[in-house]
Amino acid sequence: MSITSPSKVNLGLFPTPITKLSRLSALLNGPQIFMKRDDLSGLALGGNKTRKLEYLFHDAITKGCDTVVTAGAEQSNHCRQTAAAAALLHKGCHLVLGGEPRDRANGNLLLDKLFGSRLHWCGAHRKGEDIPEIVENLKREGSQPYVIPYGGSNEIGAYGFVHAMAELEMQLDTAAITHIVFASSSGGTHAGMMLGRVLLHKAYHLIGINIDKGENDAIPFDDFIIDLANRTSLSINSDQRFTTQDLVLNGDYVGEGYGVIGELEREAISLTAENEAILLDPVYTGRAMGGLIDMIRGGEFSKSDRVLFWHTGGTPALFAYADAL
Ligand SMILES: *Cc1c(COP(=O)(O)O)cnc(C)c1O
Repeated sequence: MSITSPSKVNLGLFPTPITKLSRLSALLNGPQIFMKRDDLSGLALGGNKTRKLEYLFHDAITKGCDTVVTAGAEQSNHCRQTAAAAALLHKGCHLVLGGEPRDRANGNLLLDKLFGSRLHWCGAHRKGEDIPEIVENLKREGSQPYVIPYGGSNEIGAYGFVHAMAELEMQLDTAAITHIVFASSSGGTHAGMMLGRVLLHKAYHLIGINIDKGENDAIPFDDFIIDLANRTSLSINSDQRFTTQDLVLNGDYVGEGYGVIGELEREAISLTAENEAILLDPVYTGRAMGGLIDMIRGGEFSKSDRVLFWHTGGTPALFAYADAL
């Protein structure tokens, strides 16, 4: 059976650019660092979720839905991009957010409001625990809701990153790339990259930096990523299968947990801003770049390595974390 390519709607501006971080590489006396700029994905201040949402919204439209429902943390980049995509496609958007209502909205939350999304505050539940109840209410009111899972990470969304790996091939001779480093948190980016890499017969190493301690997760995150990679493979009729041996998920940098900013993130954000004039975000890319810098200092790369850091976005959250930076 041949591999099927799912259909999508266009939400962003692709391909996203690739920049070379020469000054940061020199400063660290390390490998050459390149950056794939999904922070410039073109949808409402950018980010990696745009890629997943192109496939998820296509599915929602195909199924005749008029409203999308998704979940995330108060400063969720996924929720902000979903709200923007819904505005673009004239769909309703309900966001199920962790935390308590705020008097003043900032960062992503401000943007969620500007895009006209409806907010549901759910306290400690930031991973969509309360979605079923909200969906039932919407159905009772006569609307046709479509649930986009936490982070957009199911086999439909993850395909966005299979496609992203093919996009990368058209931009750059990836035979020269030895590693791709990125922030991993709901698994769709990681799973899609793993599958794309194998389908394209690539040799570079994928190093996901785990962002979230995942204290309350029902399934360990590694198992979730592997299962998602396998489900994504199955969904496109590929017979590729993965086991835990195929996964590199570095858990050394979760620090005090999701969204708690420490010295690692602060240093990475300022080094990248001061030397490259590129903004990282406090929750994901600041932590992942902090991990990369620490690994370089620890001698985990050689000077001849060529490392691509995948900037997954999140810049609007900087403003909401101003006090921690
Ligand atoms: C969601 C997100 C990630 C993680 O991607 P997953 O596919 O959820 O693992 C990384 N960086 C940013 C800025 C994000 O918003």
